[in-house]
Amino acid sequence: MKENCLFCKIAHGLIPSEKVYEDDHTYAFLDINPKSEHHALVIPKKHYENMFDVTDKEAAHVMQAIKNIVDMYGKEYGITDLNVLNNSGKAAGQEVFHLHFHIIPNLN
Ligand code: 5GP
Ligand code: ZN
Repeated sequence: MKENCLFCKIAHGLIPSEKVYEDDHTYAFLDINPKSEHHALVIPKKHYENMFDVTDKEAAHVMQAIKNIVDMYGKEYGITDLNVLNNSGKAAGQEVFHLHFHIIPNLN
């Protein structure tokens, strides 16, 4: 856990969040400023800054979690359209420097 990292604190329950999904390696929670209903952020529990420093193995765990959440969104909410988005680096729009993927449903 990296000191003063907002998403490390969220992953370890030190800052409250609305949990969407959790497994041994990853945690997912609702975005505080959602682009649509059920807009979630998927993070590794371990600290990585973004896609440049994450290990192959950890990246695979995160992708599996994304797939599990997409399946769950389809079954539970009937969602059929969504974007999976990652910003890596300041110029790419990254604001929180703990790796995260946005899952943004496009609800009608
Ligand atoms: P980025 O631009 O780094 O890809 O996106 C960061 C995202 O984190 C934004 O969509 C923002 O709304 C979300 N966010 C920032 N601080 C918090 C927080 O304290 N709690 C939650 N749930 N989301 C946050
Ligand atoms: Zn962190």
